[in-house]
Amino acid sequence: MQVETKVKAINCLHFINGQFVESQNKKSFENINPATEEVLGTVAEGGKEEVDYAVAAARRALNGKWKNITTGERSKILRRIGDLILERQEEFARLESLDTGKPFWLANSIDIPRAAYNFHFFADYMISVNTDANQQDDQAIHYSYRRPVGVVGIIKPWNLPLLLLTWKLAPCLAMGNTAVIKPAEWTPMTATLLMEICKEAGVPDGVVNLVHGFGPNSAGGAISEHPDIDAISFIGEPGTGSAIMKAAASSLKKLSFELGGKNPNIIFADSDLDEVVETTIKSSFINQGEVCLCGSRIYVERPAYEEFLKKFVEKVKTLKVGKPENEDTKVGALISKEHYDRVNSYIEIARNDGANILTGGKRPEGFDKGYYLEPTIITGLDRNSRCVREEIFGPVVTVMPFDMEEEVIVQANDSHYGLSATIWTNDLRRAHRVAHQIEAGIIWVNTWFLRDLRTPFGGMKNSGIGRTGGMHSIDFYSELSNITIKL
Ligand code: NAD
Repeated sequence: MQVETKVKAINCLHFINGQFVESQNKKSFENINPATEEVLGTVAEGGKEEVDYAVAAARRALNGKWKNITTGERSKILRRIGDLILERQEEFARLESLDTGKPFWLANSIDIPRAAYNFHFFADYMISVNTDANQQDDQAIHYSYRRPVGVVGIIKPWNLPLLLLTWKLAPCLAMGNTAVIKPAEWTPMTATLLMEICKEAGVPDGVVNLVHGFGPNSAGGAISEHPDIDAISFIGEPGTGSAIMKAAASSLKKLSFELGGKNPNIIFADSDLDEVVETTIKSSFINQGEVCLCGSRIYVERPAYEEFLKKFVEKVKTLKVGKPENEDTKVGALISKEHYDRVNSYIEIARNDGANILTGGKRPEGFDKGYYLEPTIITGLDRNSRCVREEIFGPVVTVMPFDMEEEVIVQANDSHYGLSATIWTNDLRRAHRVAHQIEAGIIWVNTWFLRDLRTPFGGMKNSGIGRTGGMHSIDFYSELSNITIKL
């Protein structure tokens, strides 16, 4: 069934010092709907000038009225932002789906409610953050004092636009910082609407600023090298992280990086295969496989290999690839022509490496327009194939058998990435044993994507620097001073 489209796309302007503004030179670019290849609207194209203007506004706001707003009042503002997102949930979900090509029901049931929850969670969490005091015999008392880091640059990817922006912006505001945000060029709409909501919720002018644009030699580059930005929170590819790190080095910015993944999904033969298949379908193909946490390397213990593959392939063949607005669509469109070509190039690599494509590997029939690709399951690849080693970030997984626990641990760790992993087993001791040896920041046992926002989130190796979530986010978005008083 098709859902009625009530919300129209929006033309996106920058939001600086509490106002929506065009670029100084009136430059803009087109925003393309990946499901239809039609133009959704225009986006102001910012660069150094707009970033300078936004940073100056953020610096003024840091030392203005925002500084004197109490923790309790800031918490109320955060809660109000979350409430307002929920009041306009359908509008947000519609814009997110138009921008990304993801199914509307997915945006409406996960991305947008979770974005609101990011604000609600930190609104509660921030008021429980307290100060440690230590007394040193009768010599001295030491206590720590937390203050904002300052002006924070937030640079975002396109896959979960509002969810990931709010994951950073909520703790950033909770700790009293001000922000200059750059959304991904492919997905500017929900970030723009969020600015309207921040203003309505009572965020003072200049506290939150948004500059649209691209990466190098554009808004992203200007934020990374700006001498008056104190910290950068970045989510995206490792190569971009490296470029940002270089640009930020001259002003020694504090950095938080959440980067890519090539996550192993390890299935032991003692696990409940029906449950495994059900969750593995999600961990492989939800959001068209465009989630950093997707388990794209599936390792199955040999006794269960054939049965798992049979059940998995059968179910995946029934997944409906379709228009994002249709309720029965399970896999929507990929983000862009460029990305669609890139994902297809990996399928070509797999073919050249002698792989078996058990299902998918092509554009579904009946689509003249839009970047649609069938969910693809590949077997028969060597661990050195680029398809097994590199992040594809699309609806493509490889499946490989294994015989020994030690062997699969080595294979799982044979990656430059270390974001997440999933282990399926009903053997408690093995679950702990294997989990302790997997080099990843987030490890799930018999589940996937189950999150408690207090827990550390982030990757090791090329998957990131630092952790976010609960106190980890509070630590990044604040500076601690220790004060010692001689008694
Ligand atoms: P990307 O690195 O290409 O772009 C991310 C952002 O950085 C965009 O806003 C882009 O304009 C900007 N940018 C690009 N070059 C820049 C430069 N030189 N200086 C400053 N800014 C620059 O990533 P993407 O394609 O948008 O997103 C996909 C990647 O993000 C994947 O690798 C995925 O795994 C990763 N990701 C990680 C997480 C996580 O939590 N670890 C979450 C989502 C996505």
